[in-house]
Amino acid sequence: MHEIILCKLGEVVLKGLNRHSFEMKLMSNIRRRTQRCGKFKIYSRQSTIYVEPAEETCDLDAAYDACKKVFGIIAIARAVPCPKEKEAIFATAKEYLGPALLAARSFKVESKRSDKSFPMGSIQLSQWVGGALHDAFPHLTVDVHNPELTVYLEVREDAAYAHGPAEAAAGGLPIGMGGHAVSLLSGGIDSPVSSYMIAKRGVQLELLHFASPPYTSQQAREKVLQLAQELTVWCGRLTVHIVPFTEIQEEIRRKCPEDHFTLIMRRFMMRLADRLAHELCCKALVTGESLGQVASQTIQALCVSDDVATMPVLRPLIGMDKEEIVRIARHVGTFDTSILPYEDCCTVFTPRHPKTKPNLEEVREYEAALDIDGLCGKALAGRELIRLYPQQ
Ligand code: ATP
Ligand code: MG
Repeated sequence: MHEIILCKLGEVVLKGLNRHSFEMKLMSNIRRRTQRCGKFKIYSRQSTIYVEPAEETCDLDAAYDACKKVFGIIAIARAVPCPKEKEAIFATAKEYLGPALLAARSFKVESKRSDKSFPMGSIQLSQWVGGALHDAFPHLTVDVHNPELTVYLEVREDAAYAHGPAEAAAGGLPIGMGGHAVSLLSGGIDSPVSSYMIAKRGVQLELLHFASPPYTSQQAREKVLQLAQELTVWCGRLTVHIVPFTEIQEEIRRKCPEDHFTLIMRRFMMRLADRLAHELCCKALVTGESLGQVASQTIQALCVSDDVATMPVLRPLIGMDKEEIVRIARHVGTFDTSILPYEDCCTVFTPRHPKTKPNLEEVREYEAALDIDGLCGKALAGRELIRLYPQQ
């Protein structure tokens, strides 16, 4: 029996005239992400993408796990194709789902017939195969409302398919269809989650991290790269841009009032992100800020940092509680790394009494003491670029 993977399309199916390009992008993303599992034939028919092993040595388990995390796929199932004849369909369902049928106490059969030339209607096919399975597994009862196991049959253009319940997959939209953005990645819990959420909407991310050695350690840097590596499971290959931030922080500390330190630092982060985004042809910035979480995340403080950005700043966590964010971080797989106790550049030189209701004019005046262009130019010139790829 040769098993294949069926990937059901999510919102892609709502895309009307753009649908073809969404499907093409999704297939190329699937192709890239299954590459290391062997050669697969990947094609699309009727709101489903088929991932079919093209050689004996294909690792179907690994390909299935990889596809489950490709944005744009809403549900996923392993299935077995067979000829479009009722006896063959029954025999396939019996053999392929035999262990599951033996373990269940109740079942039902659900059929879909998109090939209208198939001589039986879907209800008729369900009844016929259901009856035959009942004869083969007499311990089972039929329960159409609440069965322990549902056997799915699909009669499609090329073949018929039998499979068990589909599993939920990543959802969202194919990466690459939503444009490019720079995502600010710290070592905390929030920013890996905000990166994941925007990537899920089809956006290709460039990750940006500010490091302040010697105030931040090598371990803090490794931690951020580890988080980025964990994001590749969902995002595919990623580039991390590491920008040195020490000199900027020292200059602010030297020349600006302490209660404005964090605000001015955040404005520098925005400026640098904005410049990098222009250079990389990105059209938006992404942060993990959440309203009221800390002093620099009040509405007034966000206005002050947005003031220096020339492009939209996307803040997908803005209305979320920490608890909700933690739940997503666990789902994404970044939580355990995020809670490793290494410092971030935001936690060095933290003011004792940070301003929560800053005045923009006042902030601009304090900043006039700094060589903003020179500092930004120097920081960006010293950046490092690290490319990461999904691993087995
Ligand atoms: P935490 O879970 O600790 O809140 P955080 O990542 O949200 O982590 P904050 O200090 O709240 O940290 O920072 C707000 C946002 O600013 C982050 O979500 C991130 O987008 C950005 N940011 C903070 N520090 C850095 C950094 N060192 N490099 C890049 N971006 C950063
Ligand atoms: Mg935060």
